[in-house]
Amino acid sequence: MGAKQPNVIRLGRPISPAMAEVAELVATCVQCGTCSGSCPTAPAMDYTPRQIMHMVQARMTEEVLRSRAIWLCVSCYSCTVRCPRGSPVTDVLARLRGLAIQQGYSETPGMTFTKSFLAIVRRYGRMFEPELLLRYHSRQEPLGLLGAGPVGLALLMKGKIAPLPERLAAGEGGDEVRQIFERARQQHRPAE
Ligand code: SF4
Ligand code: SF4
Repeated sequence: MGAKQPNVIRLGRPISPAMAEVAELVATCVQCGTCSGSCPTAPAMDYTPRQIMHMVQARMTEEVLRSRAIWLCVSCYSCTVRCPRGSPVTDVLARLRGLAIQQGYSETPGMTFTKSFLAIVRRYGRMFEPELLLRYHSRQEPLGLLGAGPVGLALLMKGKIAPLPERLAAGEGGDEVRQIFERARQQHRPAE
């Protein structure tokens, strides 16, 4: 057994080498909750950032990779800059999203939402909310459309959302969006 660092948490549940790397990044987390208190999307998450860090420490791979929380992070870095222990919370969540993709957690609500969102932005260069609702709810929570329909109609009547998709013109940023997706495609690595 190698020398132990002081003040770190490493529990014994067996996990993959990739997950062990992530767990190592949060081994110094002391569960103070500053990350959760700093997070603008924590109220919508199923687990707060602090809880995710604890679950990673506790080797709860399945629960973490199935969580909605990892997909609701908007990478604002508030948690990371405020963490008193220097835990790279934002990067940990990004690594967890990558692992969820690699390990085939493709039908979780969080990933379905993200894939639907990206498919629309890729096609039009911008968001088209009615299609997002349809794409998401056709795969997850179909009954949710019943609740979303009246809200969508009200937004439509007030002109807050467009009735038809509007494609972003090449000279208005459409080219840049296409280049971003192309770069992401080129950097994609198949699951090991
Ligand atoms: S702010 Fe840092 S130490 Fe505190 S709970 Fe979050 S990750 Fe852990
Ligand atoms: S980077 Fe993600 S987890 Fe951290 S505060 Fe921002 S949204 Fe929350």
